[in-house]
Amino acid sequence: MRLDGQVAVVTGGSRGIGREVAKKLSAEGAKVVIAYAGNDEAAKKTAEECRDAVCVKADVSDEAAVEKLFEEAMKINGRIDILVNCAGITKDNLVLRMSSEDFDRVMKVNLYGSFYCSRCASKIMLKQRYGRIISVSSIVGLRGNAGQANYAASKAGVIGMTKSMAKELAKRNITVNAIAPGMIETDMTAVLPENIKDEMLKTIPMGRPGKAEEVAEAILFFASKESSYVTGQVLAVDGGMAV
Ligand code: NAD
Repeated sequence: MRLDGQVAVVTGGSRGIGREVAKKLSAEGAKVVIAYAGNDEAAKKTAEECRDAVCVKADVSDEAAVEKLFEEAMKINGRIDILVNCAGITKDNLVLRMSSEDFDRVMKVNLYGSFYCSRCASKIMLKQRYGRIISVSSIVGLRGNAGQANYAASKAGVIGMTKSMAKELAKRNITVNAIAPGMIETDMTAVLPENIKDEMLKTIPMGRPGKAEEVAEAILFFASKESSYVTGQVLAVDGGMAV
């Protein structure tokens, strides 16, 4: 298996894309630490679907909680080879109606959360002289989207951070990449009104939404040794939406 003996931390691992990533990395031989915000049952279900996984509760927007998460992960497995920043939220509204609280909250979880986790992971990976950091951005971070200024800003921020960290860490054998999913069928998109979903579908050349497993496959490539000469990249997994 591709990831035998490796340890992965997956944030937002309790459901959606994060759950499929945890399952995929585990199926390839990794020991997985599932970091989750609050849903104990959902996190437990993901762990049961993995070969070798533990759950650690941590709100990624809380700096101290993230530090504890990585201390805990190191206590359990002694190393961290892979970090997947998958935790994310939306709080959509037009800019004119968007509260500062909703702007802050989305930035705090999506951008600051990825920063706190990447900083903790890179400290450990620098000592190991090996690591793979993968952040889940969005095509909205590349192209913008009406009603999602906070989300788009956070996901564009993730891309800027990914490219900067890739340059900082390249000499130590640590790669840093991002995935930009399009419209993926998860709880996050299930709540969108039908007319919005129909409009979005019209913009996808493949004519269908993506599956969380399809995003997990792309993340597996960045997480594996096979992607050793790839860093600072943003891979769209979007059925052609951003072409
Ligand atoms: P989801 O809502 O099903 O899952 C989000 C996960 O993030 C959940 O496990 C949730 O518990 C976790 N989370 C939320 N706030 C957190 C916090 N403060 N601390 C720790 N964990 C927290 O959504 P999803 O569709 O699986 O999204 C996963 C990632 O993919 C997100 O970053 C999202 O922005 C991104 N994304 C999704 C789509 C899509 O169409 N579904 C498209 C592009 C990007």
